[in-house]
Amino acid sequence: MVPVDDIRARARDLLQSGKVRAVLGYRRGTAGLLAEPAFMTTAEETAALVLDPTCVENLALYLVNEKKRMKHARQSDRRPLGIVAKGCDSRAITVLLQENHIRRDEVVVLGVSCEAGGMVDTRKLNKALRGKVATQVRFDSEGDINVSHLGGSTTLPARDVLANRCLECARAYPLDADFLFGEKVEERPYGPRFTAVAAFAETSREERSAFWDAHFERCIRCYACRAVCPMCYCDECVVDSTSFIVGPTTTADEKADRVRWINRSATRSENAMYHMVRAMHLAGRCTDCGECERVCPVNIPLRLLNTMLEREALEMFQYTPGLDAEQPSLISSFRDGDPNDFVR
Ligand code: SF4
Ligand code: SF4
Repeated sequence: MVPVDDIRARARDLLQSGKVRAVLGYRRGTAGLLAEPAFMTTAEETAALVLDPTCVENLALYLVNEKKRMKHARQSDRRPLGIVAKGCDSRAITVLLQENHIRRDEVVVLGVSCEAGGMVDTRKLNKALRGKVATQVRFDSEGDINVSHLGGSTTLPARDVLANRCLECARAYPLDADFLFGEKVEERPYGPRFTAVAAFAETSREERSAFWDAHFERCIRCYACRAVCPMCYCDECVVDSTSFIVGPTTTADEKADRVRWINRSATRSENAMYHMVRAMHLAGRCTDCGECERVCPVNIPLRLLNTMLEREALEMFQYTPGLDAEQPSLISSFRDGDPNDFVR
């Protein structure tokens, strides 16, 4: 794993020199195993910065939230924000740049390579530990995962406990970073991209339909998947009427006139509609950070849906989201040679 002291030193330097107003990184959490996001505003605070396989969250989400906060703040420090970014986080930042949601000079990216492997999936980890409570997780020199827990430690094959997105990751390092920590590792020992989607695509249409019916039936429409997604930055979302802005001056007629594409009731058909519309809105934008799937309280395999569209975009349009901030986004661009036989 990348030496965390190097990242701390750079973060400290950026803060001491006043080049950034804060550094957004990870520190040890107070609840559970996972590292938690932290805004560090003083050089001293950077001593708490950590980087290990529990830094699973996509910090790009906080750029979106910070942007909203700054918009409404009367006075605020306009210096850039330093941000620690893994490969998938940095691709999300690139999409935000592509969509002009943020400007490049608003961020200083401290990019970290996942040269050791990636991030753990706590569900897999808990299953493998069979009741032991993990207190620390790190890669050992063999590339396995060493877990400390009460009463000792256990070593597990990384393949068994890494997040699915990490097992399929094709670029485990940031392409756009002001400072890069670690190596750009291209060869990874796990599996090719789209392994899960390719296997799923082999099943029959009826099986796929039954699979999603069963999952959408269980969705409680808590919207956690939307809330955690850095790409879902709209103040109001067409598929989430809870996000409709109602102010003191909003009249009853205005409220009644709001178009509700999807009912609030969490029925299978409404849930299916929610997920389909959301997947379409993420086509060519989702960078597969896997956060939607991680936070889902009922374990709906949302990555499968989003990576299926990612694979379509790659095969049909040779497009991969998050690689180049200067590239026109998939949905807003058209080339003469693009396939269009699906348009009727
Ligand atoms: S998906 Fe890739 S870049 Fe993101 S945490 Fe996993 S290995 Fe790192
Ligand atoms: S997080 Fe899971 S349960 Fe909640 S809305 Fe998304 S898919 Fe449904």
